[in-house]
Amino acid sequence: MTQQYDADVAIIGYGPTGLVGALTLASKGAKVVAFERDQDIYARARAVTVNDWTMRIFQELGIDERIEKVIEPQRALRWVTYDGQEIMRVVHPPSTLGTRDTKPRFYNIYQPAMEAELRRCAEELDGLEVHYGTEVVGVEQDEKGVTITARDRETGAETTTKARYAIAADGGSSPTRKALGIAMHGETVDTQWIVIDCKVKRWWPDRDFLTFWSDKERPVVDIALSAGNHRWEIPLKPGESEADFQTQDQVWPLLEALGVTTDDVEIHQYAFYRHHVRGAETYRQGRVFLAGDAAHLMPPWAGAGMQSGMRDAHNLGWKLARVLRGELGEEWLDTYEAERRPNVEFFTGLAVGLGRVIKQEATPEEIEAMNTVPENTVTPFEPPLVAPPTMVAGWLTGEIGDASIVGRMLPQPVAGDAVGTMARLDELLPDGFVLLGAQVDPATLLSPEQKAGWDALGATYVAVRPRDVHTQASTDLVDLQGVLLEWFDRYGVQAVAVRPDKFIAAADKTGLSVPAL
Ligand SMILES: Cc1cc2nc3c(=O)[nH]c(=O)nc-3n(C[C@H](O)[C@H](O)[C@H](O)COP(=O)(O)OP(=O)(O)OC[C@H]3O[C@@H](n4cnc5c(N)ncnc54)[C@H](O)[C@@H]3O)c2cc1C
Repeated sequence: MTQQYDADVAIIGYGPTGLVGALTLASKGAKVVAFERDQDIYARARAVTVNDWTMRIFQELGIDERIEKVIEPQRALRWVTYDGQEIMRVVHPPSTLGTRDTKPRFYNIYQPAMEAELRRCAEELDGLEVHYGTEVVGVEQDEKGVTITARDRETGAETTTKARYAIAADGGSSPTRKALGIAMHGETVDTQWIVIDCKVKRWWPDRDFLTFWSDKERPVVDIALSAGNHRWEIPLKPGESEADFQTQDQVWPLLEALGVTTDDVEIHQYAFYRHHVRGAETYRQGRVFLAGDAAHLMPPWAGAGMQSGMRDAHNLGWKLARVLRGELGEEWLDTYEAERRPNVEFFTGLAVGLGRVIKQEATPEEIEAMNTVPENTVTPFEPPLVAPPTMVAGWLTGEIGDASIVGRMLPQPVAGDAVGTMARLDELLPDGFVLLGAQVDPATLLSPEQKAGWDALGATYVAVRPRDVHTQASTDLVDLQGVLLEWFDRYGVQAVAVRPDKFIAAADKTGLSVPAL
């Protein structure tokens, strides 16, 4: 990079979104400077869960096994009334993204512990510089770059940093978003919730169910967090306010009403919050991108707020890193919002719908709809909350929908390479864009124009062989568990183009041309 820049990318805010942005970019060779207003990790446990999509992102960053040590598999979700009636249950099948039958689909986390481990992983990367206790007070940009003014909160000293791009991951009240004049549309729900985090003193029956106590007046979230923590989220009733819960003695009756006693837990901390359904007018202004809570806020019911931020940062990060290396054109950066906004809106809608179940506002038809198998479905039906992700817009060629493989995430079974190594598929796939052929070299299925298009992106061509034949080329992969060939077959495809984030960009059935930008 030329001397006029201090960094390729400046990251404002070093919460989960900023961290994943930093990890993605720095691990791909970009020079990153991050600014975090606080010295320490935000102590309140907010997010409670991550799933196998997020874990696959961690795998790509080479840190999933470290994160796995500070999180725990989630058993199942259930929605129950206080008189013991079960309204709905979602049992998690094993993951298809993180190796079938061996990895969980959902995990419980303790956000401060997970963020601490993410920070330790990031510290090991060359090319990443983090300024803690440093508040960004100015963001200016021209057509060449972004100038960040940051103030050391202890000394008051101000510095300026020039970067090619900036990511504002500075949370729901994002000072950057406000400074750029980007409106945040949507609403904040009036009800105030108390979130009580506890240390577990003894096990109780079914503690590891994520239970939504469904009730019109006092719906409660009851969830095991990792590392011996447990969380209850309880809405305040009309007439109640923060002032009524100033001490632990005032908070305890809320837990006692649920049958929890001082023999079970000790209260570690509690806080009050309101739910938002909000989205920024745009996720980008020039060279500055909004990501995470800075760009969108959703209620917690789908457990997808923090994860959406991490997925934003990863989506933007792998593209930015390649743009910085000159491998992709700048126009790629427009796909960030085109791809992330519909996904965020999907999870926001899901969270709002699940919120209606817990508050007993959902009609039986709505509950039924959440579990109904669509007609003529090609995919084995899974409730939307646990189903593997699909992209519905963005850098894709051809039809998207239930019968199409395009936009789906490639499953991740254990596979073999031509010289006998057995590993999770992603560990064996070449980095970048990969075309996979079912028992065929996918390059042979391309027209010269299509081949030239994929070659220009540095794509590799891999034939997937069943386990009972010889491999034919050093690039061949073996489908040891029979998962990939069965998956291609189900959608009637012979070859697919896989993006670096493992989503299917194109398939021979609808055309293997490089997607248009
Ligand atoms: C009770 C509750 C439960 C939740 N449950 C879930 C869940 O189960 N699953 C899930 O995925 N999500 C959940 N969420 C949401 C999740 O916690 C947030 O979406 C997530 O923390 C957002 O991450 P972020 O990095 O975008 O923002 P933040 O975590 O808010 O981080 C922003 C950072 O920017 C810093 N900053 C701000 N301004 C500046 C500045 N000017 N200069 C430098 N630094 C600055 C802040 O200090 C902060 O560290 C929950 C939230 C709550 C409140």
